Amino acid sequence: VAGVAEVRIARTQSRVRRKLIAVASGKGGVGKSTVSANLAVALAKGGRATGLVDADIYGPSQPVLMGVAGTRPQARDKTLIPVPTAYDVPLLSMGQLVDPGKALAWRGPMAGGALGQLIDADWGEIDTLVLDLPPGTGDVQLTMVQKHKPAGAVIVCTPQDLALIDARRAIDLFAKTDVPIIGIVENMAGYACPECGAISDPFGRGGAEAAAQEMGVPFLGRIPLDIAIRTQSDAGTPPASGNGPQARAFGKIGEKVAD
Ligand code: ADP
Repeated sequence: VAGVAEVRIARTQSRVRRKLIAVASGKGGVGKSTVSANLAVALAKGGRATGLVDADIYGPSQPVLMGVAGTRPQARDKTLIPVPTAYDVPLLSMGQLVDPGKALAWRGPMAGGALGQLIDADWGEIDTLVLDLPPGTGDVQLTMVQKHKPAGAVIVCTPQDLALIDARRAIDLFAKTDVPIIGIVENMAGYACPECGAISDPFGRGGAEAAAQEMGVPFLGRIPLDIAIRTQSDAGTPPASGNGPQARAFGKIGEKVAD
């Protein structure tokens, strides 16, 4: 019996030590999952023992992004064992637990409970977990954040005004729950020419950075709209794992988040 108690204490302590970094967005389609995957890879490359938790019940895409589509985690003593990936970032995804589409009907408490299984898994030496939240700022997101209290949050938005208004809502959600905002990532910011790599700004630039400053929130960087990001993501090779300009851009964001 004493042994069991010791194991429980050890588990609780390791859970407390593990740093949870939530990645959120005001709406879907802004690249929250892409940024989550590449941030996790960048942190691991920077020497942090990092895992990835995909809580996006509406569209769990991390198994595809991390090149482990179709995998199911094993369990030991009802504790899940994260699935290893080729990028030194083990992964657990809501998409690995339920059939596609099933989780859509979940309400906050159920989604919060399922997320607990992913966070309290057998992460071993991992000390940082990047948490890809569902898009938006409703009851499901609020319950997840209240229940699991991330150490900080990264907000992903696009340069468009509407996305920024939505991003403000996401910032409000974390303010309400006393979770510090690590900063804003502006995704699809400018266009990277597939021929020469030059970045142009068809819609102007600086909006998100100015909005971040006005809200007193750090600006973590811009990721351009880049065909290579989409094709590599679809192929299960996160661009942050390579050594191109995309990897450098995600690397810089990773350094700021790791600080
Ligand atoms: P979200 O998680 O916010 O719904 P995703 O990360 O799934 O968004 O991204 C939506 C789509 O946009 C995906 O097809 C993804 O590959 C693509 N995408 C995301 N960011 C970029 C980018 N910077 N450049 C090109 N395509 C991108």
